[in-house]
Amino acid sequence: MPYHEDRAAWFQGQGLWQDTPARDWHNWAWQLQNRITTLEQLERHMTLTPEERAGCLFANQKLALAITPYFFNLIDRDNPNCPIRKQVIPRAGETQLAREEMLDSLGEDEHSPVPGLVHRDPDRVLFLVTDRCAAYCRYCTRSRLVSNAQHYDFHPEYERALRYIEAHPEVRDVLISGGDPLLLSDKKLDHLLSRLRAIKHVEFIRIGSRIPVFLPQRITPELCEIFKQHGPIWMSIHVNHPKECTQALKDACERLSFAGVPLGNQSVLLKGINDDADVMKALMHRLLRMRVRPYYIYQMDLITGGAHFKVDVRKGIEIIKALRGHTTGYAVPQYVIDAPGGGGKVPVNPDYVEKITDDEVVFRNFEGKQFRYPLKSTPIEGAPPTDEAARELVVGGALID
Ligand SMILES: *Cc1c(COP(=O)(O)O)cnc(C)c1O
Repeated sequence: MPYHEDRAAWFQGQGLWQDTPARDWHNWAWQLQNRITTLEQLERHMTLTPEERAGCLFANQKLALAITPYFFNLIDRDNPNCPIRKQVIPRAGETQLAREEMLDSLGEDEHSPVPGLVHRDPDRVLFLVTDRCAAYCRYCTRSRLVSNAQHYDFHPEYERALRYIEAHPEVRDVLISGGDPLLLSDKKLDHLLSRLRAIKHVEFIRIGSRIPVFLPQRITPELCEIFKQHGPIWMSIHVNHPKECTQALKDACERLSFAGVPLGNQSVLLKGINDDADVMKALMHRLLRMRVRPYYIYQMDLITGGAHFKVDVRKGIEIIKALRGHTTGYAVPQYVIDAPGGGGKVPVNPDYVEKITDDEVVFRNFEGKQFRYPLKSTPIEGAPPTDEAARELVVGGALID
C-alpha cells in the first residue's frame, strides 16, 4: 500500500500526558526525568508483542531502553509495525548475532588518539563528548559505548582532546557527537565551543544530535544564543520518518535556523521503517519545509544484533532513483555506506552514466531517456570572422550602454 500522509498536518499536543501542566511538558528536564526506561513502565502504557518483551528483557545487556514522553506520543500503540515504535522499542532481533557483525564496525577505537576523539580523515575529527542520549535508537552505530549497557565505561577527556586538536593544524573541521552533545549543560557547551573557536585552524564546527527529534524542548532560546555567539555552528539532525516531523520539531528547527545554524539531516535506511520511496520522499519534503537540507542516507552499519534492520542496498539505490529528477534537487541526499573497518563514507549511487570515451559521455536521465554530451570539439569549417566582425562581437558585449 503506498504511503499516504496528510501534508497539511503537523502533529502536536501532549497525547497520553494531557494532565501534565504545560510548563512541565515544555521543560526538557521534566521530559528527561519522566522517560520510559523499564519494561514495567512500557507495559503500563501499551501492550507489547512477545518479540518486544523479549527485546526489552535483553536491552540492559546491549543498549539501555529510554523514550521521552514527547517521542512516545508519536508511537501508534495499536500497530506493532509502527515505524516510530520499531526505532525505540527493543525487539528479539537484537539478541540475534551474525558473523559479519562487529562491536566497533567503523574501526573508531583504532583511530582514536585520545579517548573520545576519532581522527580518521586527515582534515576532520569526530569529538565524542558523552555516551548518553535523550532516547536510544535500537540500531545505534555506537551501541558498544552509548548508554554504557555493555560496560565500555566511556570517559571523554575534553582537555586532552582539545589539546590534541590544538596541536594538529591539519584539523579544520570538528564534528561534535556522542551520545548526544546537546545533553551537556549550556555552560559546558558554551565552554567547549569557545575553546574550539579559539583554535585558529578550526574553521568548521558542527554538531550531530537527535535531541531536536527526541527532546525539542531542549532547543531553548538560551541554547540558540550560544550557537549564535560562536557561529557558524552547523548541525546534523537525525530524522527517519515523516511522522517525526511534528510542530514541536519544526519550531525547534526554526529557532536553530534563526540563530544562524544551518541544518542538515542524516537518516538511516531501516527495514520496515523507511525502506520505501514514498515514505522517503514524504520525509525529504517535510525536512525542506522545516529548513533542513537532507544530507545523508546511511546504509546500516554492521552493529551487533542489527540484522533485523538491514535493507538490501539495491532498495536504497532504487529510493535515490525515485527521488533524483522526480523532486526538488535539494530533497535528494547522498546514499552512503560507511565502509566497515573505517574507510569513511562512500556514496552508492544509481548508474546514470552508460559510457565514457575520449569522444563523448553517454548517459540517461531520470526518465530513462538516453543523452550524449560530446567531449571533443568539432570546429565549423569556413572563413574566420574578419577584424570588423570580431570587433562587432566584442563591442556587442557593451550593449548595456
Ligand atoms: C562521519 C564522519 C566524519 C564526517 O564525515 P563527512 O562526510 O565530512 O560528513 C568524520 N569523521 C568520522 C570518523 C566520521 O564517522
